[in-house]
Amino acid sequence: MSKTLPLKELAKIVGPDRVFTALEERLCYAYDATFMEYKPDVVIKPANTEQVARVLELAYREGIPVHPRGAATGLSGGSVPQGGGIALVLTAMNSIYEVNRQDMLAVVGPGVITADLHRAVEAEGLFYPPDPGSSEFCTMGGNVAESAGGPRGLKYGVTRDYVLGLEVVLADGRVMRCGGRTVKNVTGYDLCRLFTGSEGTLGVITEITVRLLALPKAVKTMLASFNNLEQSAEAISAIMAAGVVPRTLEIMDDLAIAVVEKYGSFGLPLEAAAVLLIETDGDEEQAAREAAVVRSLLEEAGASEIKIAADADEADNLWRARRAVSAAIARIKPTKISEDATVPRSKIPAMIRRLRQIGRKYNLDLVIFGHAGDGNLHPNIVCDRRDPEEMARVEKAIGEIFTAALELGGTLSGEHGIGLLKAPYLASELGEVGLAAIVDIKKALDPKNILNPGKIFPS
Ligand SMILES: Cc1cc2nc3c(=O)[nH]c(=O)nc-3n(C[C@H](O)[C@H](O)[C@H](O)COP(=O)(O)OP(=O)(O)OC[C@H]3O[C@@H](n4cnc5c(N)ncnc54)[C@H](O)[C@@H]3O)c2cc1C
Repeated sequence: MSKTLPLKELAKIVGPDRVFTALEERLCYAYDATFMEYKPDVVIKPANTEQVARVLELAYREGIPVHPRGAATGLSGGSVPQGGGIALVLTAMNSIYEVNRQDMLAVVGPGVITADLHRAVEAEGLFYPPDPGSSEFCTMGGNVAESAGGPRGLKYGVTRDYVLGLEVVLADGRVMRCGGRTVKNVTGYDLCRLFTGSEGTLGVITEITVRLLALPKAVKTMLASFNNLEQSAEAISAIMAAGVVPRTLEIMDDLAIAVVEKYGSFGLPLEAAAVLLIETDGDEEQAAREAAVVRSLLEEAGASEIKIAADADEADNLWRARRAVSAAIARIKPTKISEDATVPRSKIPAMIRRLRQIGRKYNLDLVIFGHAGDGNLHPNIVCDRRDPEEMARVEKAIGEIFTAALELGGTLSGEHGIGLLKAPYLASELGEVGLAAIVDIKKALDPKNILNPGKIFPS
């Protein structure tokens, strides 16, 4: 950004100890969980809504880009400050204001770590289902901005399904509220749904009210091994078609199993072509009954081994293995490109076949894992961005992954958002008219395009 920043005014709004301009400090906020790097000109960590509002009012007046940011665990380049400007870091607004048993809701600041909310509500016998693999690090603000999902999305849906109310600071600094504390609310347009998943491009979320459920009393966890990847995909389809909805149905292919075992020795079957990690829940009777149905479907589908976790520790070990996949595959090569193209459930076997073909065609290390039960696979390509020849093949492979997902009736992103990485492909899913409609919404709410410019929309 070539403009001189009003640093004194910014320091007056938030206090000098919340403004960071040193190169080392700016570098710390140049990354997210992708391979991208763009330094902001200044990092600001507001303490409350009033400060966010005044920072935005100033930025709007001066035409300074503002990049909202939670914990930067995003996988689509949503928070990286391309083009410079302000990195607006919301992590200090991390209070859990309320956990309300009677109204079955919680009210939190955007900087609350998702797992801290899980622990706070579970202590009260309540349940907040969205559980991104990054739950121990990511923020509720980032979850709402991406409509984050996670393994439990299969049965319980994604963040969007739990947002009851929001406080949002608009691009020009005005503060608005939408939704509220009621389960039913059809007053005006559904603005909560509009801001949820808006990836920091329409407003800065400063307070979130989420719906809670009763904590399920029992969970059964099992690991099924297959000698053939496609057979495991057929098993997923069979389970989903049988009308049982497990709370999770995760897949890891042989490469994922091998790197995870090298990383942590969790006891996964190294000889398997794929494993499925499945959980059922409810009361004791329901969890056990559904686990028995799933088990017999897995046997029919040809699983070579099925292990039921004997206790919470064994279940926890399996989940630690699953959560280690991202970190483990990052050891294969320095650059990891994580996709989340999603297909209708019936097309999971076809998508897995296409992914394997694409990996072979471009001779790439393509690891398949993810939330397979809801069609949200995470093909990860591990590569080296210093190798231009390999990166050219990667780019072609990514294009073909998106084409495959769309041809099978799916979507570019099930949960990671469009950000910078998928912006060039947006029109292929929305079409010209759909794209024009969301451009109109963006222009109406942020006419000067200061909020997260370059994200979602193709430049
Ligand atoms: C190991 C690993 C596992 C993951 N597993 C999952 C998974 O299972 N499911 C899933 O959905 N995602 C997953 N993710 C992706 C990521 O964790 C989620 O997208 C998460 O919601 C990002 O939260 P964050 O706080 O890190 O947000 P950031 O990365 O900081 O920001 C993400 C986006 O939200 C915007 N934003 C952040 N805060 C605000 C705010 N207060 N107001 C407005 N806009 C805001 C940013 O501008 C950006 O566009 C995973 C990531 C990693 C690294």
